[in-house]
Amino acid sequence: MTQLDDKIVLVTGASRGIGRAITLRFARAGADLVIVARNREELQELGSEIRAMGRGCLIMPTDLRDPAQIEVLARQAFEQFGRIDILINNAGIGFWAPVTELTLDQYDEMFCVNMRAVFLLTQAVLPQMIERGNGHIVNIASTSSRWTYPEGTLYCASKFALLGFNEALAKELRTTGVRVTAVCPGQVNTYLGGSGPQTWEKDMLSGEDVAELAFQAVTLPPHAIVTEIVVWPRAEAF
Ligand code: NAP
Repeated sequence: MTQLDDKIVLVTGASRGIGRAITLRFARAGADLVIVARNREELQELGSEIRAMGRGCLIMPTDLRDPAQIEVLARQAFEQFGRIDILINNAGIGFWAPVTELTLDQYDEMFCVNMRAVFLLTQAVLPQMIERGNGHIVNIASTSSRWTYPEGTLYCASKFALLGFNEALAKELRTTGVRVTAVCPGQVNTYLGGSGPQTWEKDMLSGEDVAELAFQAVTLPPHAIVTEIVVWPRAEAF
């Protein structure tokens, strides 16, 4: 018996980076997965890995900017598994530039993926969690949810919004049995975090570091709720 046996976990942004690491960590612990991103091939490759581990996996190529696609995602997940025990809102994008150079399209895209999709997926999974008195929503926020820097206006704004959503939701659900946790990492060695040839790349966090924290949050005993985890690479100033 592993800790997440029989749990159904939906992970957004599962195709690479932190989401991929979370998916594999949770599958190793016995969970069945619904994996979400736009890139079908990357999801299929990950799906094969999960099935080879003996776990169930529903591959759901979805553009989270589109509410209609989110509806289809939720419907098919419930059709296949009947419930979602854990929702990991991980998908996120970032554009960094002086504020005068950021565009309306970048604004819309960042807020749709980093915040609106989180709101819609939360609404989709919550009623059945509340009815069962059990469930966990993990939001992958950021140290940019609490600390700002030049050229980070819109990314920080979207991640501050996500942490605000997380805090209010945790309070709203405190007595329902549904737990809510934000994991706020500093720089992680992923595509988004900049996996280019940076001299300090080796000192960044890994997707696996973040996955382990998400795993620890959802496997705490039911009477304990961790609402926010902040993790820095030692090399990053904090
Ligand atoms: P990543 O490697 O770029 O992965 C992002 C994931 O999101 C991919 O699976 C991507 O898949 C998916 N995604 C992007 N746009 C999407 C859309 N419109 N619809 C569906 N899926 C979409 O980035 P990461 O570093 O792992 O980031 C994961 C989360 O961690 C994000 O929320 C990010 O803000 C947060 N975070 C990252 C860092 C860091 O330094 N890397 C630090 C703190 C917080 P497709 O492109 O195939 O859709």
